[in-house]
Amino acid sequence: MTAQQQVKDLLQFIDNSPSAFHAVKSIEESLLQFDFKPLDEKQKWLLKPGTRYYVIRDDSSIIFFVAGTKPLVETGYKILGAHTDSPGLKIKPNPLINNNGLLRLGVEVYGDPILATFTDRDLSIAGRISYKTTEGKISSQLIRFEESLIRLPNLAIHMNRMVNEKGLKLHKQNELPLIISTLIEEQLCPDYFKQCLEKQTAIKAEQILSWELNVYDTQTGVLWGDEQQFYANSQLDNLASCHAGLRAFLDNTVLQNNNTRLCAFFDHEEVGSESTKGANGSFLPDILQRIALSLNINSEDYQRALAQSFMISADMAHAYQPNFPSAYEPEHKVKVNKGPVIKMNANQRYSSESISAAQFIHCCEQAEVPYQSYSHRTDIPCGSTIGPMTSAKLGIRTVDVGSPMWAMHSIRESAGVLDHDSMIKVLKCFFIS
Ligand code: ZN
Repeated sequence: MTAQQQVKDLLQFIDNSPSAFHAVKSIEESLLQFDFKPLDEKQKWLLKPGTRYYVIRDDSSIIFFVAGTKPLVETGYKILGAHTDSPGLKIKPNPLINNNGLLRLGVEVYGDPILATFTDRDLSIAGRISYKTTEGKISSQLIRFEESLIRLPNLAIHMNRMVNEKGLKLHKQNELPLIISTLIEEQLCPDYFKQCLEKQTAIKAEQILSWELNVYDTQTGVLWGDEQQFYANSQLDNLASCHAGLRAFLDNTVLQNNNTRLCAFFDHEEVGSESTKGANGSFLPDILQRIALSLNINSEDYQRALAQSFMISADMAHAYQPNFPSAYEPEHKVKVNKGPVIKMNANQRYSSESISAAQFIHCCEQAEVPYQSYSHRTDIPCGSTIGPMTSAKLGIRTVDVGSPMWAMHSIRESAGVLDHDSMIKVLKCFFIS
């Protein structure tokens, strides 16, 4: 595949994945095409070396792996970590706000989105609903409204004269509810929102009990630039890293390899990863341990395997935007289309250290792709990602890396075509090294 084809595939993957639940579903569909077998955490596992497996926890985190034919104690685990969630707006449990002849939906802010970018966009709703079946069991289903359904109109400049000087500031409680209808109070039944969900799923409103729904942008991804060397979509942070990991993992040379290798993609990174399925929860340690148990490895050899392991934590990096030179560390300007970025931070906001960074550089050299080093400005607090917490929990040497991108946490982010392709190449080298 050419770099542009890889990115077109990425854009399609994102367009099919308007929520973390859908992203995991999209990944599962790809894995099934390559004979990966589903595992259930409630069942006993009898893994066979050389076989492909995946485990989904609570519909929005996924780990897929190949149990290697070489002894685990010799190879350790080769792990790629990333996250499936993106910052944004989530629909509240009692969402209806009805006054002045307009019906709006109340939302909660999830993580740190750039709120102003949600205005004037063709928004809709996707996620998961839970309901009672006709047999009285609790079940759940993914849901997606395809058409533009809701909107957050901006305030005209005539009422906000300083908007270009002071920026658009939105009050989180009062100024984020999204317009959905002109229904007035007398016309509105209390089950209105559940009825909307019923129309979309054919599950009766009275059966629907609860939901996790996020707002998404219906605009699909594009290539742009005079040579189509850039691309834009929502959720590049961090579905681009998930996609790079998936494409690398499903490459023939990687699938034929003898090492035990896995990808772990977690929900809830944008809110701190502290959950049953987050990177700071038990999901990854549980699965690593169960792989070892099922392969009859004793606990000392399991610890030896961990000590032998290596993890790449892939999350997007901040590319230099020349309109805002003062925001960047002058000696660490990371450029779009100039290769994967190694993130370093002395205060351990990133898990990279000199040895793990050197190992990643070695992979880049093998893959014949350029690489760059990122350090945040010393006078601005640095972001973080899943690397530090998983490496702390497991004692696995880790490097934090990512592809450069602009406008992180905007509803419309952009990045470089070559970087996505380079990341896939490096990850392939990592999995077979
Ligand atoms: Zn991220």
